[in-house]
Amino acid sequence: MSKVISTEMERLLATGSTLRAMFEEGKKMRKQFGAENVFDFSLGNPSVPAPKEFNEAMKQVIEETDSMTLHGYMSNSGYEVSREAIAFNLNERFGTNFRMENVTMTVGAANALVVAMKILVNPGDEVIVFAPFFLEYRNYISDFGAVTKVVPPNPPTFMPDMAAFEAAINEKTRAVIINNPNNPTGAVYDEETIKALAAVMERAEEKYGRPIFLISDEPYREIVYDGVEVPFLTKYYKNTLVCYSYSKSLSIPGERVGYLLIPDEAEESDRIIAASAIGVRVLGCVNAPSLQQLAIIKVLNVLSDVDAYAKNRKALMDAMDAAGFEYVVPKGTFYMFVKTPIEDDKEFVTKAKDEFHVLCSSGAAFDCPGWVRFAFCVDYDMIVRATPHIIAVGHAYGLN
Ligand code: PLP
Repeated sequence: MSKVISTEMERLLATGSTLRAMFEEGKKMRKQFGAENVFDFSLGNPSVPAPKEFNEAMKQVIEETDSMTLHGYMSNSGYEVSREAIAFNLNERFGTNFRMENVTMTVGAANALVVAMKILVNPGDEVIVFAPFFLEYRNYISDFGAVTKVVPPNPPTFMPDMAAFEAAINEKTRAVIINNPNNPTGAVYDEETIKALAAVMERAEEKYGRPIFLISDEPYREIVYDGVEVPFLTKYYKNTLVCYSYSKSLSIPGERVGYLLIPDEAEESDRIIAASAIGVRVLGCVNAPSLQQLAIIKVLNVLSDVDAYAKNRKALMDAMDAAGFEYVVPKGTFYMFVKTPIEDDKEFVTKAKDEFHVLCSSGAAFDCPGWVRFAFCVDYDMIVRATPHIIAVGHAYGLN
């Protein structure tokens, strides 16, 4: 037992991040075998450059903003000009009616999620997630002493199983987190699914006599293919909080900027809005980064090159088809979820890495064993070079 490290941090140190570990392994292998001989599909770091308009916006902000405004402390909710511009932009795109007050600027979607947890949960409360899910959710929930309740995976579509969802709700349920489009499956919940989900939650609110919040984690909202629509959640369920980030849509995950959206229809919305500013402050962020807040509002209708991801998606689907793997056709995000030909996905990941230099992430890391995630936010050429190796992995399992 450490005399220094807290029990909770001891647990985190012991478990580590399997995704990060694979990334480190990839770095080591590239040194050992040469970058062109390693096919790393392990990490969700956007591969297309940030649009030049964003870099220009950053420069412009520095040039045109006085020092006190640009570098000083501000309201914990963020610059009014940024919140106003975002509310206006959402209204234009989704026919909503948001005001500046409904938007609290955050340090990415991760910060929006922990602020939401800080506002909503007491120790012992339950928060429902649908497997497979972004594993940091467990930490964001346990940070506040709440408990993660997992609805089991529903392959091969990975749409939420409504009966299992309804069965998971009880008097301790305070919130439900969904991630649409979904990391790691690439699935997009359509309008029908969202309506069914909202109906289950409304019934549960009625039954338990208190609100249950739907937390919509949406960093991949704009990264969709074949014209797929992602429903805007506040229109379907009144107790919704949206966690958004520019990390993926503008390829700027290191810049750490996003927002928490709190609609007026949400119960006690005024108090949640006030609480969100306190949340950003007391969780130690104080406010979202200033330069980034001012830059993004100049590029609210600009997107990274989603066509490049679409091209990668097609190339990886071709490789998987040739190899004989079963997978979920990604409707959004830059991830492909692939069924492993053996039950033990960790064994599959190790074999693919050691024998074929193909790196992917174990589904167990997303609470969904028997599957693996391929991140296709990579160089197109790497997918082309990887194809014979992916086919060879399939061959090793007698698939082709
Ligand atoms: N939610 C999901 C599903 C993610 O995949 C990620 C990042 O990969 C995040 C949240 C965190 O995003 P951000 O960089 O905006 O904090």
